[in-house]
Amino acid sequence: MMPQPSTKTLEIQAGFKEDQCQYCQLIETGDGPLAEWFIKLAETRTSIAWLHKDQLWPGRCVVAARQHATELFLLEPDACQTHLREMVGLAEAIQREFGADKLNYECLGNMIQHVHWHLIPRYRWDFLWRRTIWEEAHEPELLGDRDYEERIDRIRAHLRW
Ligand SMILES: [Zn+2]
Repeated sequence: MMPQPSTKTLEIQAGFKEDQCQYCQLIETGDGPLAEWFIKLAETRTSIAWLHKDQLWPGRCVVAARQHATELFLLEPDACQTHLREMVGLAEAIQREFGADKLNYECLGNMIQHVHWHLIPRYRWDFLWRRTIWEEAHEPELLGDRDYEERIDRIRAHLRW
């Protein structure tokens, strides 16, 4: 007998939505645990981007799909395409402004199962160069409000959303 992917899909989506998704909370209310770490940078009908307050990797951002989905393939096909294009556009804006030596695109979802990407510009000087940033704990590099705003403006200047 053939499996029934549509039923399975609904179970996956419903299961995590009940969990009080922190990305949905942030997207819907602008509040919640993630608001302590993220500052909104840009949004469209399909994506929302934030500057990450830990700027040890200058230009580090997070971008999420607006629609709750645990996997990229569970997004509506059009929304998935648009979201991917916007994610790539943000990566390019970060690279153009900060001159990173490499971009990391991490769509993990191990902690919070809502499609989101950590866009992490990597630099030859960074202490985890050629490794993922999660391999060793580090002190977050926090900036003042004006410095955050300045970095957001610098990225927005290149962003074509
Ligand atoms: Zn969600």
